[in-house]
Amino acid sequence: MNLILATNNKHKVREIKEILGERFSDIQTMAEAGLDIEVEETGKTFAENAYLKASTICKMTGKAALADDSGLEVEALGGAPGVYSARYAGGHSDEQNIAKLLGVMADEQNRNASFTTVLCLCFPDGKTIYAEGKTYGRILTEKSGANGFGYDPVFYSNDLNKSFGDASEEEKNSVSHRARALKELLKHFSF
Ligand code: IMP
Repeated sequence: MNLILATNNKHKVREIKEILGERFSDIQTMAEAGLDIEVEETGKTFAENAYLKASTICKMTGKAALADDSGLEVEALGGAPGVYSARYAGGHSDEQNIAKLLGVMADEQNRNASFTTVLCLCFPDGKTIYAEGKTYGRILTEKSGANGFGYDPVFYSNDLNKSFGDASEEEKNSVSHRARALKELLKHFSF
């Protein structure tokens, strides 16, 4: 099946291809499909944003499109930064987002947090499939490791007993919110 990934995030593309690669013969990124656009994430939920991205690319190309919307939810912050994870500190800098989070959490004892991914797969005939995945952990008081992206260096995974920043790609993919959402998505297919 021909599938376009409605994202420009290289880390997401690598993680998605790693997991879906065995099932789909032809996975193209937006760049590979000749698309140079950024779909605005104006939704209030992960599902709304994932749908916005997937449906836009599907309509533009006439091909099936898969979008991922994800973020970090911190219990003590009432679920923030949530859908605003990428722009938490105002820009798009991982460094600044982490600095803001560590500052806001400085005196907080409850450090429970989770990552969520909602995937939306849109087909040209209008069929739409959603899948969700979560992974649980806590926010460290300082960065540990430099692997991954986003908040990975300050997210201590309950499953791995180490930060995602210290985890190998394979380790992260075995427990990540994105991997779990992709596994849920695969249940909709019989191949
Ligand atoms: P999205 O592109 O709107 O899905 O933004 C997701 C944002 O959430 C990213 O920019 C990261 O800041 C954060 N995020 C999502 N998934 C991960 C992950 O696997 N590790 C670390 N941060 C993540």
